[in-house]
Amino acid sequence: MHANTELPPSSQPTVLCLSPLVTASSLAQASRNAWRVFLEQSEGWGKAELVLWSGGLYGPIARHAAELTARRGVADADDDYRYVDPHFVERMIAIARAQAFEVLSSFALPRARLAFSRAMNEEGAVTRCEDSAGDIGFAPTPVTDSLADRVVALIAADLFARPGDFEGETLCSACGGIVLGRAACCSRYDVPSSSVVAKPVDTVAVPMAG
Ligand SMILES: [Zn+2]
Repeated sequence: MHANTELPPSSQPTVLCLSPLVTASSLAQASRNAWRVFLEQSEGWGKAELVLWSGGLYGPIARHAAELTARRGVADADDDYRYVDPHFVERMIAIARAQAFEVLSSFALPRARLAFSRAMNEEGAVTRCEDSAGDIGFAPTPVTDSLADRVVALIAADLFARPGDFEGETLCSACGGIVLGRAACCSRYDVPSSSVVAKPVDTVAVPMAG
């Protein structure tokens, strides 16, 4: 890939490099994993689960992002939710879930998806970077430390890395599940039981020699 592709106006002029241990694609995968696990599992989570998610899935991504952004004077967001009032945790999770699901459901409209990308880019919620192989990656760099902003920035980083996976509906209209790219869900590829079944090809009788 040539490096002279046109950059969006708000891109940093200097290229931020990921640590040699991280690739652009592993960063995208980790971001997807973190936001998906949060949305698919956090209903009914308490403080213990949130602390686990934060330390295990969000923390490593945040550290890559902090390494990248340190030179811009952004504080390292390495805190977890250990000291948060447990009564507040439930509310925090509910707010983050609602906001993230709203973002995902808006993606059904291409112009809403575009508007979201622009807003995230302008806010600096995602930072463009490069890995040691020269592949372009996107690190979530949420504008605030709120859980909702963190989850939304993870979605944005994933969207920037693999926009094709977010085309069309990202939430299943039947079960509400997350559907990315060409993955199947209950309402997609729902083949009726009377579907065509390929008949086994008749064995061709081979004339015996002789
Ligand atoms: Zn479904």
